[in-house]
Amino acid sequence: MSLTIGAHVDQTDPLAEAAARGTTLVQFFLGDPQGYKGPEIRYAGGADGLRADAEAAGVALYVHAPYVINVATTNNRIRIPSRKLLQQHVDAAASIGAKGLIVHGGHVGKGDDPEVGFDNWRKAVEATDLKLPLLLENTAGGDNAMARYLDRIAKVWDAIGSASQADQVGFCLDTCHAHAGGNALDTVVDDVLAITGRIDLVHCNDSRDAFDSGADRHANFGAGEIDADLLAGVVRSAGAPVVCETPGGADEHKADFAWLRERL
Ligand SMILES: [Zn+2]
Repeated sequence: MSLTIGAHVDQTDPLAEAAARGTTLVQFFLGDPQGYKGPEIRYAGGADGLRADAEAAGVALYVHAPYVINVATTNNRIRIPSRKLLQQHVDAAASIGAKGLIVHGGHVGKGDDPEVGFDNWRKAVEATDLKLPLLLENTAGGDNAMARYLDRIAKVWDAIGSASQADQVGFCLDTCHAHAGGNALDTVVDDVLAITGRIDLVHCNDSRDAFDSGADRHANFGAGEIDADLLAGVVRSAGAPVVCETPGGADEHKADFAWLRERL
């Protein structure tokens, strides 16, 4: 099977990172993944240079939005800056010609009605100028999460479906998050496709923790708790480009690519 398999890398020179791994696909953060400061582009040639150089090298770029973005929350002091940060990252990711911006599903507070969160997702999609596909990613845990369990993902998707830019919202399936979040990996691709109709990207990661543990700790392939055949099966049946967000640098990633290719 000829799927593109890439990795999450440092943003300073993503094209050198791609070359070091022998891949044509990389994902990275634009700035601090834990902060509200806004995106920054550290490539020496700037946004235009990165766009042109990536195109010339035939490297597909994906941007992972900061973890602090939570567009679902009922807390105005988080939701409003989250929306602003989301738009800033959409703009920055579009400026480098990225194929998609990955954002976590977020959560509402412990005692909150999840319905408010689903509707906040719709409002965020309505309010954001989606210049590139926004890929909603499932999460491993979080109290009252929007995208840990399938029933919640279905409700987020329903809510987003009525937004005018719904076709610009896709799905990123993370295998570690699905496993640790308590979703059976032998059916998760079909289960997600039945809801979203699309899987645009797979985050392929082994999990240091047990099924349904709710913990988000990635492991290199074969070093975690996920059965090898199940992990490869998700990648095979999703049929989407793959990003390995596994620990280590180029050597570890190349070993992970080889492990996976052997099983596809
Ligand atoms: Zn991920």
